Amino acid sequence: MPAVPPTTTPTRRNEQHRCAKCGSRFEVSHTADPLDAYVTIEVSCPCCHAQTAVSLPRGADKDLRVENLPGTEPETGVGD
Ligand SMILES: [Zn+2]
Repeated sequence: MPAVPPTTTPTRRNEQHRCAKCGSRFEVSHTADPLDAYVTIEVSCPCCHAQTAVSLPRGADKDLRVENLPGTEPETGVGD
């Protein structure tokens, strides 16, 4: 994992959301104030690139990052 640059960046917050289309989980990170009013912001799913509406604090879209969360869906039925 790359280290966070040692600068005076605002606190980043990570929130997990799920794509409404393909069901993939992804992480949305932003620097908005979580105490601010939440608004609906459309983000692009890192998996299928569908526009998915998520609820984020106002201003989160100014510095928004969407990252895929790998390997979170348990696949059953695989024997050894
Ligand atoms: Zn998707």
